Amino acid sequence: MIAADKERVRNMKRRDFIKTAAIGGVTTGTLAAPAIVSAKSSIKWKMVTTWPKNFPVLGTSANKLAELIGEMTDGRIKVKVYGGGELVPALEVFDAVSRGTAQMGHGSAYYWKGKVEEAQFFSTVPFGMNAQEMNAWLYHGGGMELWTETYEPFGVVPAAAGNTMVQMAGWFNKEINSVEDLKGLKMRIPGLGGEVLSRAGGTPVNLPGAELFTSLKSGAIDATEWVGPYNDLAFGLHKAAKYYYYPGWHEPGTTLEAIINKKALEELPKDLQSIVMNACRVVNQDMATEFSAKNNAALDTLVNKHKVDLRRLPDDVLEKLKGLSEEVVIELASKNKAAKKIFDSYNKFRKQVKAWHDISEREYLNVR
Ligand code: CA
Repeated sequence: MIAADKERVRNMKRRDFIKTAAIGGVTTGTLAAPAIVSAKSSIKWKMVTTWPKNFPVLGTSANKLAELIGEMTDGRIKVKVYGGGELVPALEVFDAVSRGTAQMGHGSAYYWKGKVEEAQFFSTVPFGMNAQEMNAWLYHGGGMELWTETYEPFGVVPAAAGNTMVQMAGWFNKEINSVEDLKGLKMRIPGLGGEVLSRAGGTPVNLPGAELFTSLKSGAIDATEWVGPYNDLAFGLHKAAKYYYYPGWHEPGTTLEAIINKKALEELPKDLQSIVMNACRVVNQDMATEFSAKNNAALDTLVNKHKVDLRRLPDDVLEKLKGLSEEVVIELASKNKAAKKIFDSYNKFRKQVKAWHDISEREYLNVR
């Protein structure tokens, strides 16, 4: 199959040459071969994703990535996208790409924490870096090299391929006025954020997206986080909860990832390898800008049309969560040598980028 793909690529190149030669008018009788690259000569890839098919922004960005690869390679690679559960269950995307069932995947690194705990640093950590800072670390601060090294034993190559930007703290049916109000709070909040809530006395619950609305509406849970206004409005969460709190301290700029089977990638000609990796980079920026562009209109609809009670988490609550987050992140960093290495790089970069952003971005946002 793979050797056949190589052969196809060689044939394509030969036909392209013939086509070019024919345009130049130098074709001779001995080179009489089909001048059109047939669809059959495409390299066919599968992309499995953790999202429901066509899920707004997250799923549609995976579709865009596939389209872009097709367009940039002029059809030499055709990527078929599968929603979560279509080819493999959502949380088995990493394994599927690792064993080559699919050549590509789209999801986020914290979904694989059961397999690679330290991968969480490459998605988001509570009170960690925002989207702009994460991308700076990944592309220009050594983050990408560490991420590549982390997935290497699995035969998987990572690429940043999207960002949610700062999320919302979530939907609540209980007011949060003090640290005391976190005690006994039953909230759907996965990952490290959930661990932080648990240390604050709450009860984190892990529920799939499809069950959020009913659980919140029925009172089975008091609160849930999801993404941000654009996704939350589409989900109808305002019909199930009274208060919409910000900021999303637990997911300050979640990086989505594209993962590529290393062998499949290396079998591509160099130009196609470069296209695949750079298409991911385009989508990484595109998703972030799409969220920035659409979130405020959705927030406006939530507040002005649906009369949602928009609230900021009190300072003392945020301070408490911040202290606990530091503990949780440091514990994650002490789990193994690899986690420590990633944390040291992440933390060093965060400190220096924070120092700069404190006098640039933050000051500007305060005065504009
Ligand atoms: Ca979230």
